[in-house]
Amino acid sequence: MSQVRVPPALEVILQDPEVEVQGFLAPGHVTTVMGYQEYEPIAETYRVPIVVTGFEPVDLLVGLLELVRHLEAGKHGVWNAYKRSVRREGNPVARRHMFRVFEICDMKWRGIGWIPRSGLCLRPEFRNLDARQAFRDLLADIQPEESPVCIAGLILRGIKKPPDCPAFGRECTPQHPLGAPMVSSEGACAAYYRYGRLAKGT
Ligand code: SF4
Repeated sequence: MSQVRVPPALEVILQDPEVEVQGFLAPGHVTTVMGYQEYEPIAETYRVPIVVTGFEPVDLLVGLLELVRHLEAGKHGVWNAYKRSVRREGNPVARRHMFRVFEICDMKWRGIGWIPRSGLCLRPEFRNLDARQAFRDLLADIQPEESPVCIAGLILRGIKKPPDCPAFGRECTPQHPLGAPMVSSEGACAAYYRYGRLAKGT
């Protein structure tokens, strides 16, 4: 089970003295269910702008534009640039169903480590459906190790960019990913692999 919560991860990033991230695009699909009230104290505490953004190309451009405008104006807070899907309170009915099955738990993030209260785990009454429990004997022999060359943790925290990784586009590609950001199409390394080269015209 790898269901993660975004706000605790944002706090870990913002508390890292090496990190220079100045603002965030909050994921529209997550906030459609969760709402964005949880982001408001984070924006206030760390004085950053957070813009809830959709996933269509124009949504992303609108989200970026709004974020840059708030940064240039020196404003912090949370803005919703995905109003056709997201409300401040999210979807309480979906959340109620979700928390009937899941509860908040600590979660290990690849490349970062354990973040308290950053995951969702099945409640005890549903643990018999947990594949990790059902296959624990098989899984006991499998200890997935992160590639020693992968700098996913630095990329997830915005300290390095994917092309800074020596394996980017060489040993590590979407067909043969070495780390989480290259696995899914929305991962930073996969996006750089797919679109960064187009941007350079190569
Ligand atoms: S390019 Fe691959 S190896 Fe390098 S940081 Fe990204 S996922 Fe890890």
